Amino acid sequence: MIYVDSIHAKTVFILEYKVKGKPRQYRAIDESIRTVQFVRNKCLRLWQDGENIGQKDLYRYVTELRKEFPFVEELNSTACQQACERTWTSILRFYANCKNKTPGKKGYPKYTKNTRSAEFKKSGWKLNRDTKRITFTDKKNIGELKLIGGRDLFYFQEFQINRVRIVKRGDGYFCQFILALDVRDIVEPLKLTGKNVAIDVGLRYFYADSNGETVDCPKYYRLSEKRLNKLNRRKSKKFKKGQKQSSNYIKAKKKYAKGHLKVSRQREEFAKEKALRLIQSNDLVAYEDLRVKNLVRNHKLAKSINDTAWSLLRKWIEYFGVKYRRLTIAVSPEYTSQECFKCGNRIKKSLSVRTHVCPCGYIEDRDRMAALNILKKATTGHVGSWSQDLNAWGETTSTLIGALLSEQVISLNQESSHL
Ligand SMILES: [Zn+2]
Repeated sequence: MIYVDSIHAKTVFILEYKVKGKPRQYRAIDESIRTVQFVRNKCLRLWQDGENIGQKDLYRYVTELRKEFPFVEELNSTACQQACERTWTSILRFYANCKNKTPGKKGYPKYTKNTRSAEFKKSGWKLNRDTKRITFTDKKNIGELKLIGGRDLFYFQEFQINRVRIVKRGDGYFCQFILALDVRDIVEPLKLTGKNVAIDVGLRYFYADSNGETVDCPKYYRLSEKRLNKLNRRKSKKFKKGQKQSSNYIKAKKKYAKGHLKVSRQREEFAKEKALRLIQSNDLVAYEDLRVKNLVRNHKLAKSINDTAWSLLRKWIEYFGVKYRRLTIAVSPEYTSQECFKCGNRIKKSLSVRTHVCPCGYIEDRDRMAALNILKKATTGHVGSWSQDLNAWGETTSTLIGALLSEQVISLNQESSHL
């Protein structure tokens, strides 16, 4: 499975495999993860107790820890470094939030009790492409693990693998390969379709598009939610405050965690499938630039927005957009459901009003009109917002798509005169 991290400037791909090993090996993984947590918490303590502690001090400290504690020394040195770097990142994030006066919590770095992963850089592991196995070579003795999953990894060169992460989850152990790629490596341009589309994410549908089609939320969203709540209640019932937890509680907890994972995978798959279809059948896909964070503050909307996994859809649209060289444009969501598509009049309406009725005589379904307005915004010279949007893919890609843009601006201008 390929995940794309489109938020950061770099184009980062994560390939994930389930791993198969012996119980002894799983214990060695657990032990590695515990060591990572130890290093992290120690670094955090140093920063908290000290004055003007910088990244270099943390690095130096990790070297000391390796001398002092044999179990730290056993863990690959790049994995220790990563633990330290990730701590530093969370410290920096906290500083940035304070500096920018980000509303709400500032994310003061916390001590962690359930670290789930250990991350290696370029050493400490060896990949065998022929047998599809990975061997961890440090003194934690994880040894050789079988990788289960697609063959995607084997299309890439080993030098493209930046980091290897071993992750523990409710349903087993996984190995992630973090690849830093030039997007050109993955581009597979498709033939132009001559069609553009805009989608409006609503409360009633997963989305409505500018062609008047709607896609419903999958039924299992609600069903799985109910099931999850049930599992959660069962778990809570078995919880004993201030006592050692029973094996029944642990079982219930595991079941709940598994259920959660299943649902999140289903959502990912659903968003991926819809995004792929949108990208394959259109040259341009426009959508609102909804900052999920802002929306979630509105409690009425929160549930449905989480439910519809809108941010997942966007992530995949942008990913496939780059992969198949399609334009993806996020436009400002202002007035898209109010402004009359024909005359531009603003007709205020509450959420319950489903139809747009304008004195100019234009009547349209609210969601479809919003989609039409989004498309209009996207296709009438918002070059500024395009480049901003494309920058999410990093500099390498914006030059690549820059060339494509100039070709398309012409065709888009022609298109917009029809609107
Ligand atoms: Zn009108």
